Amino acid sequence: MERIKLLKVHYLPKELEEGFLYVSEEFGVAGHLCPCGCKNKIITPIEPTEWSFKEFNNKPTLFPSIGNWQLPCKSHYWITDGKIEWSYQWSEQQIIEGREAEEEKRKTYYDNLENKPVKQSLIRRFINFVFGK
Ligand SMILES: [Zn+2]
Repeated sequence: MERIKLLKVHYLPKELEEGFLYVSEEFGVAGHLCPCGCKNKIITPIEPTEWSFKEFNNKPTLFPSIGNWQLPCKSHYWITDGKIEWSYQWSEQQIIEGREAEEEKRKTYYDNLENKPVKQSLIRRFINFVFGK
């Protein structure tokens, strides 16, 4: 079981060391090196819509899991209680599905935006009706 130590910092250093989770609570960001050994820097914003960070006895927990499918290694793991818990690797199919789910979310968002002018035009039609325009 691989471990990751918590290191609280003001700013994330340029060079991160393996085996540490750097957390800047002031700036709401955490960083670590991909634990597979590929040495890619993984930056995880700590925000309500991104990752949540907890610590217990100086052991960090990030939630949800970290899926580095944009990296060649496609690592996917959890950081729980200072431990790296490996998940399965993301298959091509899952990556495609993940992208489609994001696309769907974006589409729903814009659809909702587009619905607003429709409502306005209904109101306008009503006004036109009432005022006989
Ligand atoms: Zn990696």
